[in-house]
Amino acid sequence: MKMHSKRLVGLILGLVITCVVTLYAICYVNHSNKLIKKQQVVQKSSIKSLRHTLPKQTKVSDWQLILINKQHPRTSEIHFNKVTVDGKQMDQRIEKSLTDFRAGAKIAGYDTTLVSAYRSIADQSEVYQNSLRQNEANGMDEKAATKLTKSVIQTPGSSEHQTGLAVDLAGNDALAKYPALMAQMDEFKSQRWLMKHASDYGFVLRYLNDSKSMSQTGIDYESWHFRYVGIANARYMVQHHLTLEAYLDMLRNATQN
Ligand SMILES: [Zn+2]
Repeated sequence: MKMHSKRLVGLILGLVITCVVTLYAICYVNHSNKLIKKQQVVQKSSIKSLRHTLPKQTKVSDWQLILINKQHPRTSEIHFNKVTVDGKQMDQRIEKSLTDFRAGAKIAGYDTTLVSAYRSIADQSEVYQNSLRQNEANGMDEKAATKLTKSVIQTPGSSEHQTGLAVDLAGNDALAKYPALMAQMDEFKSQRWLMKHASDYGFVLRYLNDSKSMSQTGIDYESWHFRYVGIANARYMVQHHLTLEAYLDMLRNATQN
């Protein structure tokens, strides 16, 4: 009799534990599902709310939003009216904005140098080859030299400088210390002023100092490379911390949905 009642108690206890575990599992799954649904609703609503904040009339096909990167190379030259400023060519449509940008820096007490602007595919090829040769001259084998060059210089056809809308702009003191253009130029107030105020003139610092930007653009942080996108777009991109790639994705989604 004693053995029987012990077994019975054990059986009942086992059943109770199984029930509790099953109930807990059901509750947990339900809770997780609710949480996922809630997150999806939040995500959808944030995309929806952001859509209404996008600059009006902006289209992915706007001239100032042209995209060139490793994933979107252009193997033929882009044609636009060129103008020469400080010996550097650029798209005529950004001349005034760039002049105003540099004048703003000057008023704030910072002289600037326009290091580079438009580069044709042939120019880019030369820059690329020079870097490769320099790395090899420094003792690297071909593989290492190519890897280093590709990390800092776009392969011909995939440089944003082909657009005529990108400029390498440096504070004179920053450039004096880092004539080869280095991320550390942002140690200087002059460079930080340019980075901070670029959007007021329609430019964005194109390659930001964070891993998300680097994975989207394929380019390391460059504290000197500015890209004209227009004031409304630039302000929006800065406010929401978006690369051009991410901004164009957002615009595409907004027009599709
Ligand atoms: Zn550049």
